[in-house]
Amino acid sequence: MSRFLSSAFSKISPYTPGEQPQNREYIKLNTNESPFPPSPEVVAHINSEEASRLNLYSDPSASMLIDAVAENFGVSADMVAVGNGSDEILAFSFMAFCEKGVAFADVTYGFYRVYADLYGLKTKIIPLTEKYEINPDDYKNIGCTIFIANPNAPTGHCLPVSEIEEILVSNPGNLVVIDEAYVDFGGESSVPLVNKYNNLLVIGTFSKSRNLAGARIGYAISNPEIICDLNKMKFSFNPYNLNRLSIIAGTYGIKDKEYFEKCTSLIKEAREYTVSELKKLNFEVLDSKTNFVFAQSGDIDGEEYYLSLKDRGILVRWFNKDRIRNFVRITIGTKEQMSLLIDATRDIIKAKHGEDIK
Ligand code: PMP
Repeated sequence: MSRFLSSAFSKISPYTPGEQPQNREYIKLNTNESPFPPSPEVVAHINSEEASRLNLYSDPSASMLIDAVAENFGVSADMVAVGNGSDEILAFSFMAFCEKGVAFADVTYGFYRVYADLYGLKTKIIPLTEKYEINPDDYKNIGCTIFIANPNAPTGHCLPVSEIEEILVSNPGNLVVIDEAYVDFGGESSVPLVNKYNNLLVIGTFSKSRNLAGARIGYAISNPEIICDLNKMKFSFNPYNLNRLSIIAGTYGIKDKEYFEKCTSLIKEAREYTVSELKKLNFEVLDSKTNFVFAQSGDIDGEEYYLSLKDRGILVRWFNKDRIRNFVRITIGTKEQMSLLIDATRDIIKAKHGEDIK
């Protein structure tokens, strides 16, 4: 730390992204990316003609992408904002809407804590239940801004929209932010509620179900006043937050519904396979509506399992954090990748216990 860093930031613990190894080929099941390439439509439109325009700034209103997102969700364009990943929209939301403080779960997306600290916010941490689930009653009449990842990460648990609605009704004076990064793998979206409740902001991403993590595209859907506030943040921070290639990638990516359906259903199939195989190997696997599973072995502790898989060229995510230290979060890849994970797991447990587990 230099002597120039403002004291307000000296104690911040930054977010630790999952490993992105550059010099060894791993089966990468650690950062919830899609194992499938972007839609062929995306690849076809990121062409040399567009690259040759990179000397010019991108459209600061990203209107082509906003229109495509609005059309996809059946809302008007003034109800949509886009950002450099949903992380950026989350950052703007923590910056803009949390004067009265913020509430989120003890086990949830790690960036919420980082943003709350970065902006010096009063923070209420709400423990998940014993079964690692969000209890909606804990969020009623709460008196501050609420952030809920639904489905939650890293647990995979999903609240039905009816329960989100109860939280909205009981908090008319507070903004409720629903982070739907993983909703397309079996969750229920709260987007239809934005017309009914003016205290709802839904945030989503192109990084998971749209196969575009590297393009860094997130979106927000809410009433026009909230979208206007988010744009105020953006234009006070980084007006050209989406680059030319990402605007094109997102636009053609979201239009290709057939490819989206195909990829998400393959992931769901591979998830069901993974869950049933892990259970046969004496794992507890939390019910997941996402492109990952959160699981703990009855035979090997979380860190050891993570390290043994890494030795065998498979990366999963292990969090050195209270309550979840024995779990690993495994991204769902292709069926072939998941089958290799299961084989490696069987080997690891066999090596540890010296017996073949069928
Ligand atoms: N929300 C949740 C719950 C996530 O897990 C992630 C991915 N790490 C994000 C938001 C951010 O995704 P991105 O910035 O890639 O859109």
